Amino acid sequence: MQARIFLLFLTVTQLINAQKEYPQDFFRSPMDIPIVLAGTFGELRSNHFHAGLDIKTQLRQGLPIYGIADGTVTRIKISHWGYGKALYVAHPNGYTSVYAHLKKFGPEIEAYIKKLQYQKKSYEIEVFPEYGELKIKKGDVIAYSGNTGGSSGPHLHFEIRSSVTEKPTNPLLYGYEVRDATNPTLLGLFGYPLSNDAQINGSENKLQLNFSKQADGTFLADEIKASGTIGFGVNGFDRQDMAANKNGIYSVVQKVNGKTYSAYDFETFSFAESRYINTLIDYEHFGKYRQRVQKLYKEPANKLGIYSKLYQDGKINIQDGLDYTVEILLEDFEHNQTKLVIPIKGSKVPIKSKKNISKTDHLILANKPNSFDLGGAKVYFPENVFYDNFYIDLEKGADTVKIHDNTVAAHRNFTITFDVAKYNLEDRKKMFIARLRENDNMSSYSKTYKRGNTFTTRTKTFGTYTLAKDTTPPVITPKNFKAEKWLNNYNYLSLTIADDLSGINTYSATLNGEWILMEYEPKTRTITYNFDDKILTSTKCDLKVTVIDNVGNTTILEQTFYRK
Ligand SMILES: [Zn+2]
Repeated sequence: MQARIFLLFLTVTQLINAQKEYPQDFFRSPMDIPIVLAGTFGELRSNHFHAGLDIKTQLRQGLPIYGIADGTVTRIKISHWGYGKALYVAHPNGYTSVYAHLKKFGPEIEAYIKKLQYQKKSYEIEVFPEYGELKIKKGDVIAYSGNTGGSSGPHLHFEIRSSVTEKPTNPLLYGYEVRDATNPTLLGLFGYPLSNDAQINGSENKLQLNFSKQADGTFLADEIKASGTIGFGVNGFDRQDMAANKNGIYSVVQKVNGKTYSAYDFETFSFAESRYINTLIDYEHFGKYRQRVQKLYKEPANKLGIYSKLYQDGKINIQDGLDYTVEILLEDFEHNQTKLVIPIKGSKVPIKSKKNISKTDHLILANKPNSFDLGGAKVYFPENVFYDNFYIDLEKGADTVKIHDNTVAAHRNFTITFDVAKYNLEDRKKMFIARLRENDNMSSYSKTYKRGNTFTTRTKTFGTYTLAKDTTPPVITPKNFKAEKWLNNYNYLSLTIADDLSGINTYSATLNGEWILMEYEPKTRTITYNFDDKILTSTKCDLKVTVIDNVGNTTILEQTFYRK
């Protein structure tokens, strides 16, 4: 009986989704293990919404990935970061499936891409095969799961995009079964006085509001006294069954006295708008506490198309003497719901906390270009780099500029230009612009354009930038072999490559003078050659590995081994 109820429920979900014309039961699962999620579609990430599902692979790599339907490979991309090894397959029904962080591809695709890598002499590659050149059948093993690119643990990143608009859609819309009987978790509630005359509980500043769980499972906030135009924000997460991962919430609705003031969900979004996530979250709060508070009102600069309903941009005008009930509903994909009620009394109370704006000498007008000459360094912000006007904090030291802090987001690149006239040309060759990282006090190379007496870098990241010098060449260390040995039973050669300051720019290797493919995994600083590539011409093998850092310091390792 229970099974039947479950079936019925599934059918209702499928019916709702079918109404929106997402094909049901057309796509099979990309894996043959139960789908357990380490990440949901639309989940809030740094500067973007997550565009797919992160499917857990039982802490392992090398699990088969299956084509979810018949189709043709339209794109193969291999990059050190980002999606790592990624495969794009277009299906005849107008959708493209994407598989990322792969360990390797299925035999036919692997042979196809390796040939091109050898032609181009590059591990990183991007190709768009002709339609029909690499056909796949539903259920074919097209790849093996891995951890390549910007992945912090083995998993499959899986997307379904519209082939026409390239917009990613929520893969759960296609009838995949992910067990979820748990309501979203509400962690925090925040009130925002928005208009100049606004206040909440006597504060003109944002404040955290208390709430408690009621007997019926809903949450009730302590009654607040407010006046003027206010807004709310919440932070929370959703957990599915069978894993403890804190994933994203599917939809958020805010009602005021029963009327929907704002509603958004993660059915789909566009990559072009994804960075506007920085206007959806309370970015200052994120900078300070690394928690993502989702605002239930829409900022003027917010161009996200995820809203299904907006009334007064989700902002609430509170009039003195009137009572309001705000209801916030957090839902996951399976309609498990967490409800929070906020009772509001329209009433002015004496101000205890006046609006604090930290002023500096430099006011940024977001819709105008802003440039600052700090003597030795110039900072240029084109128009619309920022979402709003603000006072920017700029500090100049010796060959150093500090540009504000991580509580403000930049939507586009700005430029920092250092005057290097006082350095001789020889020194300049080994110099570059570095960004000092706050978390580990290390510095990282910021791509440096050298022109005349200036060094320029383009960035979207605030923080401290400085001129640095790197005279130390990279270090190359064989990992699984030794020189002058017989390596008959070896499947691969593996070496560690590292550079202490400016970082690795290029790496390459030859075997008896022929270029060999080294697969680079920056996370483990490892380059790997696979003997299956069969670039061997004699028993005596001369290996030559060349690594160059970002200012041109070069290290060459030459070793001989034997193999038959
Ligand atoms: Zn992912």
